[in-house]
Amino acid sequence: MKQSILVVNCGSSSLKLALFDENENKLASALAERLNRKDAFARIDDDNRTVALPDGANHKQALQALVSALRERQLMPRSPTSIGHRVVHGGETFREAVLIDSKVIGAINDCAGLAPLHNPVALAGIEASREQFPDIPQIAVFDTAYHQTLAPRAYLYALPEAYYRDWSVRRYGFHGISHFFMANEAARRLGKTPATTSIISAHLGNGCSITAIRDGLSVDTSMGLTPLEGLVMGTRSGDVDPGLFGYLASRGMPLNEVHEVLNHKSGLLGISGQTNDMRSLCDLADHGHEPSALAIEIFCFRLAKYVGAMMASLSQLDALVFTGGIGENSSRVREKTLSHLRLLGFNIDADMNEHHGRYSDGRIEHTDSHFPVLVIPTNEELVIAREAARLTTIF
Ligand code: ADP
Repeated sequence: MKQSILVVNCGSSSLKLALFDENENKLASALAERLNRKDAFARIDDDNRTVALPDGANHKQALQALVSALRERQLMPRSPTSIGHRVVHGGETFREAVLIDSKVIGAINDCAGLAPLHNPVALAGIEASREQFPDIPQIAVFDTAYHQTLAPRAYLYALPEAYYRDWSVRRYGFHGISHFFMANEAARRLGKTPATTSIISAHLGNGCSITAIRDGLSVDTSMGLTPLEGLVMGTRSGDVDPGLFGYLASRGMPLNEVHEVLNHKSGLLGISGQTNDMRSLCDLADHGHEPSALAIEIFCFRLAKYVGAMMASLSQLDALVFTGGIGENSSRVREKTLSHLRLLGFNIDADMNEHHGRYSDGRIEHTDSHFPVLVIPTNEELVIAREAARLTTIF
């Protein structure tokens, strides 16, 4: 193997690694979960053996253990050629991926106030990799960066302007790495260039967001200052009346509890009272569990409203694209969502939808639909690997 790129993705309690060769082939991937807990756990994908971790292992210990295990199993060379890190929040500082140096580390740290659960762990991953591979170039790819092309009319809240000026209160948007991949992959499948392609990209996983992309650039998106705004998600409420905060406070609920409820106990989980998992919700609904059926209804109706809202930013639409665990796999969610959008001219083919577009290069629209509708598996790791390669001139 001549060149290889290691992709490092640190979540609040998890660490994912992926290794690519210079031809964009994925050579290996590995995962550590429940970090900083007694039952921390790690494994290499496609391998039934777990990787031993110390009790309560942190991100640094997990990285060391997984890299050693990948080397022992001869899945990784002594050193990768470059390393790409996913970082959630780049604020207004980062409009694209960058080579990491101490100034960049300082700036990521400065954005930590906007993403207190995510940026510190990304920094832990960066520092651990810099210790382990001191001579290897490392780059950071930001979830917010792709949305830095939003115009003020899309990113400003209707608040006194001092809040933006003094406290950076604005809409940033997230899932930018996935939406960027959709912009490029949809263009490729449509036989166009990204710079002339306009799409609406719906990323529906545990977190959900939708982005209007005009001529390859993000022009509006549903997540805002934090990833709580917008669509209904697994455990997040998405949009609520801001008056709710004052009302709950008047009922005696402390702010940290409001935060906990809106982020972790709402969305599909809150409405169904059972689960945040769309697959389980569909099973429950099929067995007559009405709150689960209602959770799916509300999820799809909110999504349909947002598809309509995203059209305000576009003058042409080359495709509506579904991605993420739900977007890629739930024919029911796609069908229900688009049933609300007949007036706009969306129509999908039942059979192609049922097969998730697998036999039609992702296409699922009916011949009489005004717009193409695509199902495209996301590949955020590949975007990070490509950015690392671009900045270190590998691929
Ligand atoms: P994350 O945001 O954590 O990466 P994913 O993109 O993996 O999440 O999406 C997870 C969601 O995808 C869950 O709600 C899961 O139920 C849903 N999902 C996965 N497979 C299916 C399926 N076959 N049908 C319906 N939903 C699915």
